[in-house]
Amino acid sequence: MLQQLMDELALTKTNLVAVTKTQPNEAILQLYRQGHCDFGENRVQELVRKYEALPKDIRWHLIGHLQTNKVKYIASFVHLIHSVDSIGLLLEIEKEAAKVDRVIRVLLQFKIAREESKYGFDLQAGLDLLTSPAFKTLKNVQVIGVMGMATLTEDERQIESEFKTLKNIFDRLKNDFFRDESSFREISMGMSGDYKIALRQGSTMVRIGSLLFEK
Ligand SMILES: *Cc1c(COP(=O)(O)O)cnc(C)c1O
Repeated sequence: MLQQLMDELALTKTNLVAVTKTQPNEAILQLYRQGHCDFGENRVQELVRKYEALPKDIRWHLIGHLQTNKVKYIASFVHLIHSVDSIGLLLEIEKEAAKVDRVIRVLLQFKIAREESKYGFDLQAGLDLLTSPAFKTLKNVQVIGVMGMATLTEDERQIESEFKTLKNIFDRLKNDFFRDESSFREISMGMSGDYKIALRQGSTMVRIGSLLFEK
């Protein structure tokens, strides 16, 4: 499955984050031995447990909601945090990253789905964040793009329009705030059920779990 998926993603130069929640270490090692090194978890405790047990050159992505009081557990090693959804969280990451003398790369999560429960900024809140004085003081956090999750639905046009919204948000932020920063370039969207739609809408990073590990 991995090779087939990688070939498909190569066509659009999209990166794969293999989502390993609920997967045993052995399943991760199997992909690792095939040369894959970007893995994602949605819970801090699980991320830390796997980080400690597995090879240290794995790049760990935190993709699920992150509580401020848990940033300290991952600050020393996390490769990319996809799910920053408040200024408070950003300031906490800044604080913990400074303690371990790192610059932590993050994505701003935007709420593009219809569902009530999904986390994330709306466009205005994102703009407010990026224009706030607090944002300008950050030194140990680098915002390199956006992340979003589409509604869980069979309606492909709905999903497509939500991914399109995220792409538009990315373009707006790029133009208004990051025009000269080549590092601002990631759009993390697409999961097992909807990644093909995400690729057509400009995803640079898909987060895929079940499809990769299904037997
Ligand atoms: C679980 C999860 C994924 C992967 O979902 P699959 O449907 O298993 O591919 C992607 N992103 C987030 C935030 C997740 O929690």
